[in-house]
Amino acid sequence: MNETGSADVVVVGGGVAGLSAAVFTARHDLDTLVVDAGGSILRRNAHLENFPGFPAGINARLLLDLLREQIDRAGCEQLSAAVTQVSPTDEGFIVETADERITSQYVIAATKNEVGYLAGIDGVGIIDRGKTFVDVDDRGRTGVKGLYAAGRVAQKPHQAIVCAGHGAEVAVTLLEDNESPFYHDWVTPDGYFTDRERDLPPGCEEIDDSERQQREADSRGLLQKYLAEPHPDDQETHPSLDGETPTNN
Ligand SMILES: Cc1cc2nc3c(=O)[nH]c(=O)nc-3n(C[C@H](O)[C@H](O)[C@H](O)COP(=O)(O)OP(=O)(O)OC[C@H]3O[C@@H](n4cnc5c(N)ncnc54)[C@H](O)[C@@H]3O)c2cc1C
Repeated sequence: MNETGSADVVVVGGGVAGLSAAVFTARHDLDTLVVDAGGSILRRNAHLENFPGFPAGINARLLLDLLREQIDRAGCEQLSAAVTQVSPTDEGFIVETADERITSQYVIAATKNEVGYLAGIDGVGIIDRGKTFVDVDDRGRTGVKGLYAAGRVAQKPHQAIVCAGHGAEVAVTLLEDNESPFYHDWVTPDGYFTDRERDLPPGCEEIDDSERQQREADSRGLLQKYLAEPHPDDQETHPSLDGETPTNN
C-alpha cells in the first residue's frame, strides 16, 4: 500500500484521552490527525455527573461531540478507521489502517485496552492484567522516542476527567519534547504580558475586549445549538446485553 497521508502527530483513539491530547497538539500548530475506530467506552455512560464544569451532569455522547467540534476548530483532521499497525521508522512512524498508510513524527496511543497495533515494537512494554495496558513513564512516554500513551491504556484510573487530563498532559509533554517554543496555552486579556514589558510568550494570545466579547458570543451560540434538543444517539449498554461478544467492562 502506498503512503496516503502524513501528519506531525497521529492520535490513535478518539475517546476523551485522545481528543483532549489533540486539542493541545493542534492548537500548537502541529498537524494532528485523530484516527478513531468509534466506540469510546464513555458512550455507555447513562449521565455523566462527575466531569467538572457540568453541575447537573451532561450526556456523555454530547460531551464527545463537543470534544470533536473542539478539535475540528483547532484544525485537527479526523479519520474513522481502526489502526492495525504502528511501525517506527528512522524519521518517525508509519501508522496503518486497512486502507491508509500515514507517516508521522509522533504517535499518541489512546485506545483504552486495545494494544494489538503496537505488537512487536521494541521498547514498548505491554502490561497484561487480564486487560492490556502500555507501560509509560510519569509523563506518558513509552520506551520509544516519539511514541506516547494516554488515558486508560496508560493505566490511568477509569474516570473520564482523569483520562482527559492525562491526554492533555501527554500532549504538553510531546510539545516539550518537540523543543518548539512553548510556554502555556493561555488566552489572556490584552496587555497582560506586553503592558508589563514582557514579550508575549509562545503559545499565549492576548485579546482585547471586543474580541473577548465576540468569542464569548460564539461560545454561547454554539453551546445553545448543541443543548437545544436531547442528544439524538441511543443509550448504549454493555455488549453482552446487546447480544454481542461479552467483555468485562
Ligand atoms: C457504563 C460506563 C459508565 C461510565 N461512567 C463514567 C462516569 O460516570 N464518570 C467517569 O468519570 N467515567 C465513567 N466511565 C469511564 C470512562 O468512560 C473511561 O474511563 C474513559 O472513557 C476512558 O477514556 P479513554 O480515552 O482512555 O478511552 P475511551 O474513551 O474508551 O476511548 C478509546 C477510543 O479508542 C478507540 N480505539 C480502540 N482501538 C482502536 C484502534 N485500533 N484504532 C483506532 N481507534 C481505536 C475506541 O474506538 C475509542 O473511541 C464509564 C464507563 C462505563 C463502561
